[in-house]
Amino acid sequence: MIKLLSTTNAYKVIRGDKAQNSLSHAYLVDTEDKDSLRDFLKCLAKLILCDSEDFCDSCRVCRLIDRETHPDVTIYPNVGEKLKAQHADEITANCLIKPLELQKRVFIISGFEGLEKSQNKLLKTLEEPPKNVILLLGTSNLSGILPTVKSRTKKIDIPSFSNEKLLEYFKDKLSDEEKLNSSVLTANGILSLVVKNYESGDFQDIKEKVVKALTCLNTSRDAITAFDIINGLDAKKAISTIKLVFGELLKYKSGQISRLIDKNTMETLDERFKTGAVIEIIEGLSEIERSLHFNANQTMVFDKALFLILEAKHRWLKL
Ligand SMILES: [Zn+2]
Repeated sequence: MIKLLSTTNAYKVIRGDKAQNSLSHAYLVDTEDKDSLRDFLKCLAKLILCDSEDFCDSCRVCRLIDRETHPDVTIYPNVGEKLKAQHADEITANCLIKPLELQKRVFIISGFEGLEKSQNKLLKTLEEPPKNVILLLGTSNLSGILPTVKSRTKKIDIPSFSNEKLLEYFKDKLSDEEKLNSSVLTANGILSLVVKNYESGDFQDIKEKVVKALTCLNTSRDAITAFDIINGLDAKKAISTIKLVFGELLKYKSGQISRLIDKNTMETLDERFKTGAVIEIIEGLSEIERSLHFNANQTMVFDKALFLILEAKHRWLKL
């Protein structure tokens, strides 16, 4: 995890502050990856407290933080629980207790936006923090954080990761290379999504159907057949897979070999779609993906996607 995190803004800022002995009393850690937030925060706590320049992940401090049992590191809420106003009161009171083993005490609050209106209970602590206390407030929804909290904390981010970094990180952990590739490509840089995609494992089936539908889709007469092949698939996954295939086609056109789609399919699609059409299709599919956030009708989504593909294909062939 260190290697992955070490390139992020959050890690660099804290590492720098630690080296200069100027750690802030409170950091607001922002990431899109809600499901990895707790682990990210624990790593940042290790970075703050471990004796190494980075964090070693093997000393007693690192191990206890990992197990969430270090006496000077308190994590809210407990796994499976929700944040409550009472937690803010607890932190305010416990901040006054001296560290038991180390020089500093760290309080981690994962999903700080969940405190809602009780966030202001911590304002005083954030304004006049007790000595030796560091608060790590983590959020995956910055709009849920009070401006008064934002102004009293140092904001740092853990942005989404590049596909190369995720592949590197998971290559020894998830053994099926093809499955890992597709899981990473459909995860949009979100660490926890890679694992979810890998475990759900239905990508292979979706990919086969999508490839079959796209190769049969030559003229508008084929639209119904293509529709029947993908009908019934999860719309979100199917659309992101169609987008993935066109992304691979774009790479193929620039001379790269696809590790996900076989050569025959690539050749067929390459003949049918001009580069301009592929770019237009990818953009259109991104828009359809966004509309899916608003629970668009599934049948309409597939109709729309197939129409978009045929329309772009024909228009660019005529040019
Ligand atoms: Zn350590």
